Amino acid sequence: MKDLVIKRILVTGGAGFLGSHLCERLVAQGHDVLCADNFYTGSRRNVAHLLDNPNFELLRHDVTFPLYVEVDEIYNLACPASPIHYQHDPVQTTKTSVHGAINMLGLAKRLGAKLLQASTSEVYGDALRHPQTEDYWGHVNPIGPRSCYDEGKRCAETLCMDYRRQHGLDVRVARIFNTYGPRMHPRDGRVISNFVMQALANEALTVYGDGSQTRCFCYVDDLIDGLIRMMNLPTPVDMPVNLGNPHEISMADTARRVIGLARSESALRFEPLPVDDPCRRCPSIARAQALLGWSPSTPLDAGLMATIAWFRRLRAAAESHMFAMSDATARTAHHQD
Ligand code: NAD
Ligand code: UDP
Ligand code: UDP
Repeated sequence: MKDLVIKRILVTGGAGFLGSHLCERLVAQGHDVLCADNFYTGSRRNVAHLLDNPNFELLRHDVTFPLYVEVDEIYNLACPASPIHYQHDPVQTTKTSVHGAINMLGLAKRLGAKLLQASTSEVYGDALRHPQTEDYWGHVNPIGPRSCYDEGKRCAETLCMDYRRQHGLDVRVARIFNTYGPRMHPRDGRVISNFVMQALANEALTVYGDGSQTRCFCYVDDLIDGLIRMMNLPTPVDMPVNLGNPHEISMADTARRVIGLARSESALRFEPLPVDDPCRRCPSIARAQALLGWSPSTPLDAGLMATIAWFRRLRAAAESHMFAMSDATARTAHHQD
């Protein structure tokens, strides 16, 4: 703990998948963490294990409204991230990205605090250049069903850069590529959570399109390490930085990999490709390597095994809860006889 400077850190979206891991890591490092979340896609359960810790505070708050608190650093993660979640209420998604960024940047400006913005590989859209380097401006449909997320995040990046240029703020933009691991929402429709849940239930894995589209999957622990390194870099980081795992894999191969690791008997079922689904996605992480000395270290199989084990426990807990419920119902029915 030598030389540790204890900081007051705000994590918006802290009750979500990535946010809860980030809060956990920051609290473990001894910092005072304020988690602000409106529980739109996240849940209190994700941070339940932190609630008794005096260094952790949970605040129900919607970032589209102003927030007046005193902190040293802000990680702005609040935003639904899975396509079915962000397309459920697209207007709210754009508001969360844009109004949320304005409010958090306004807060950072008043306090002179550092802010790290969780951006996304979706700013590259259906990219025409591979791998994607940070100087690529992307290929985004501004009016399609994914645009509430893509354009909302692009506008948030614009705001970050303008608050830096206009007000001298220390703002850092992390472009996060597909990340997976424990605490993904089991029904958020993302490919890893879908495939693992389906494999564990021995149901067919739903591969969209012909399954040749690619993604690169970063294990959550690696990603959190990258975010914290980026925030902690003593010199300003003026340009966005890609954070992701450069190992590219097709969705059909991902499905087969999950089936094998889960020892499942599932088959594949091909379904239509969603509108504007990017064909290929792969980060260049040269900038992250040079600037942060960061690259992911968890191989896909190891990360998938940890994720499968977590979903297995989740299913077992849900089954025993249902068993207890049906047992209680049976006992109540018996008493009423
Ligand atoms: P998630 O849906 O699990 O978490 C998002 C959190 O933000 C949830 O807890 C949700 O309740 C909260 N939230 C949503 N709208 C809010 C609002 N208006 N006010 C306050 N809280 C709000 O998603 P995640 O995967 O943890 O993603 C976290 C961040 O990282 C997002 O900004 C997302 O765009 C970005 N990101 C994630 C990935 C990924 O693969 N997981 C990839 C790229 C970018
Ligand atoms: N804001 C906030 N907390 C603060 C300071 C500002 O939530 O501590 C919000 C407030 O809603 C404001 C926005 O951030 O409108 C942008 O602030 P800025 O100072 O950039 O501009 P303003 O709108 O105040 O002129
Ligand atoms: N996908 C799939 N089956 C599913 C869910 C998703 O084949 O059950 C595909 C989806 O079409 C996309 C890829 O997996 O090509 C990644 O989808 P996800 O929603 O996880 O993330 P994103 O599209 O935002 O990268």
